[in-house]
Amino acid sequence: MSEDRQPIPFAIETRNLTRRYGTLVAVDDLSLSVPAGSIFGLIGPNGAGKTTTLRMLAGLQEPSAGEIIFNGQRANGDWDHFRRQIGYMPDFFGVYEDMLVWEYLDFFARCYNLPAARRRQIVDELLELVDLAHKRDDYVETLSRGMRQRLCLAHALVHDPKVLLLDEPASGLDPRARVEMRELLRELGAMGKTVLVSSHILSELAELCDSLGIIEGGKLVASGPMAHLMRHAREGRVLQIRLLSDPDAARSLLSSQPGVGEIVTTAGALEVDFVGDDPATAALLAALIAGGHQILSFTESRGDLEEVFLRLTRGAEE
Ligand code: ATP
Repeated sequence: MSEDRQPIPFAIETRNLTRRYGTLVAVDDLSLSVPAGSIFGLIGPNGAGKTTTLRMLAGLQEPSAGEIIFNGQRANGDWDHFRRQIGYMPDFFGVYEDMLVWEYLDFFARCYNLPAARRRQIVDELLELVDLAHKRDDYVETLSRGMRQRLCLAHALVHDPKVLLLDEPASGLDPRARVEMRELLRELGAMGKTVLVSSHILSELAELCDSLGIIEGGKLVASGPMAHLMRHAREGRVLQIRLLSDPDAARSLLSSQPGVGEIVTTAGALEVDFVGDDPATAALLAALIAGGHQILSFTESRGDLEEVFLRLTRGAEE
């Protein structure tokens, strides 16, 4: 008897979502499934259709065809209901510069008809969350770019949405501000929100996302859990092995094992090209130990997301 399987709850689904601008098909038959509570990265080069997809999901642009489904419910014209569940941060945004930081958030909280006491509370909580509490009474125009991005994110959170659509939230930020933004998104994930975040910088999403959709020319080239995509795209894995005992002796044992390809010595470690699944990898480690080699560390290098992307898009072209 097969086990009963619970259906995966998806916070966002699209079915054959399409958007045309005249003869240009900006989003082409896109079927995405974003698991509830996940951080999902939408990756693609400039002009791939990311912004158009997010704008349709935010109810700001009409699809030419296809369906959008939030938590199993079709978003069919009733956008007032769905907008309350969605926070959207566009790639380009204007801020009202001659307002104080707290006033800016309070203004948007008023738009959602939140009562005064609740507004005060939510504004303070959000300023804490995005690390702008110390700027509460400063003018928006005095904020740095990174601070403005964080303020804009706080704006998207004012109505406590379950789903966040963030269009290149780290664009234009310096490396440190990028790290801060990544930490903030991780925190939102830990709060149970579903985050759909776009970027054309692959490494930016590698550490952050549970799942990924790769989009090119409006089409979804690949999608799924990060680990599956990485495994699928790489023909094999690269193992990094550090030894206390003689690496040359380990080298000769390794090269006699099935699945082992090229072995390179770098900075005192062996880098081993290996084709094999998890049990085969465990067996390789066991063989080394049984052979009397003293192992300090045995790790799989994650590979480069850039390389994964290139392989997948190359596969799509072929
Ligand atoms: P980027 O990373 O540069 O922001 P993107 O992946 O977000 O790109 P979109 O902005 O969605 O891509 O654009 C997808 C395609 O649709 C592009 O070819 C773009 O030129 C085109 N496009 C977008 N908006 C319009 C519009 N209003 N009118 C005509 N074409 C448009």
